[in-house]
Amino acid sequence: MVDKRKPIAVKEAIERVMKRVTHLTEETVPLHKAYGRILAEPVRASHDVPPFDRSPYDGFAVRSADTKGASGESRVEFRVIDHIGAGAVSPHTVGAGEAVRIMTGAPLPNGADAVVMLEQTVITEDTFTIRKPFEPLENVSLKGEDAQEGEIIVKAGTFIQPGVIAVLATFGYAQVRVAKKPVVGLLATGTELVDVHEPLAPGKIRNSNGPMIAAQLARMGIECRLLGSLPDDEDACFDMVKAAINECDAVITTGGVSVGDFDFLPAVYARLGAEVLFNKVQMRPGSVTTVAHVRDTFLFGLSGNPSACFVGFELFVRPALLSMMGSGRPYLPYEKAVLAADFKKPNPFNRFIRAVYTSAPSGAVVSPAGFNKSNSVTSIARGNAFIVLPGGTRGFQKGDEVDVLIIGSEEGAAVWELN
Ligand code: AMP
Ligand code: MG
Repeated sequence: MVDKRKPIAVKEAIERVMKRVTHLTEETVPLHKAYGRILAEPVRASHDVPPFDRSPYDGFAVRSADTKGASGESRVEFRVIDHIGAGAVSPHTVGAGEAVRIMTGAPLPNGADAVVMLEQTVITEDTFTIRKPFEPLENVSLKGEDAQEGEIIVKAGTFIQPGVIAVLATFGYAQVRVAKKPVVGLLATGTELVDVHEPLAPGKIRNSNGPMIAAQLARMGIECRLLGSLPDDEDACFDMVKAAINECDAVITTGGVSVGDFDFLPAVYARLGAEVLFNKVQMRPGSVTTVAHVRDTFLFGLSGNPSACFVGFELFVRPALLSMMGSGRPYLPYEKAVLAADFKKPNPFNRFIRAVYTSAPSGAVVSPAGFNKSNSVTSIARGNAFIVLPGGTRGFQKGDEVDVLIIGSEEGAAVWELN
């Protein structure tokens, strides 16, 4: 007899997964390896930035008081007493009518409180003239204007993007505390599967889910343990998954979670004594997506259908893995956009349509990325987003405003916006 499964709402399913997440431990990596990791500790300013008052231009450091009354008719002259570039410090104190020729990034000499840009001067050998007065601190980049010592610049749980790398370097973080990456095992199931380098034979298809998920993980900076592919054989799947849970924080399988005669994953979960968090979700594609948990390891049972597999990963696997690493923004970023084409199908469940999202000055638009059934592989290749249509709705028309989730963005969302 086929089990009657009770479908739960997408939001509820995500919550059940996220509740089971435990944080991974931390490790230290050198700065040049920190890109793409998640910060395990906040970045604190170890000094002011800039660390001293400095010149933002190539020019002359002067006393603003000496520039009073300068005009086109009555130019004021300065005598140049020193010349410094970035990295040098002038030993002089600028006195009345004096100036230090100074390059961008060099510290303002004592006595000076303004910088005249080269372009604002007429220069002779040891002197120059100006034609306008300068305010105190005009053209001066002030100590601490960018960051003040002790300030938290980036919070723990932040994805380390190139700007975060710059801040870490600024404050001397040669070593960075980051969350360990989860160990993720990846197994494709299906007697019909052949590997990418193998020829097709009657009834066979190539395993596209395995390489696709490996790439979805790679996009998150996570390498996976390729457990290969297995035929639909309960014992073989059981042995493989059982061995994998000892070594992995998560084991992702594709295929075999439906109710067909050769879908053995539910039996495997039962034999492992795994707690099944859910095995039916109110979503299309991917309603058979199953998540189980055993001995601190997640078992993500994704559908074999390529689009369903892709959606299941982005909705459940991605936030769980990011959250294990302490990410404060584990969810897909959410936008609104105008539908650029009709979508006539009714939506008994929430529908996640692979889509092309384009932002434009006139407003963001989104359209389905071609053939959009759960077994489609091409729409995944063309899409950069999901259109999300709520369950219980009829068709949508061109011009309707719809919810969109953006795929592949570095910056995630802190909350899951949709029901
Ligand atoms: P299943 O979830 O095992 O019922 O598989 C659903 C559909 O997805 C079937 O048509 C399978 O042939 C196909 N499929 C299963 N695994 C893969 C895979 N790794 N790559 C591409 N298609 C697959
Ligand atoms: Mg199968």
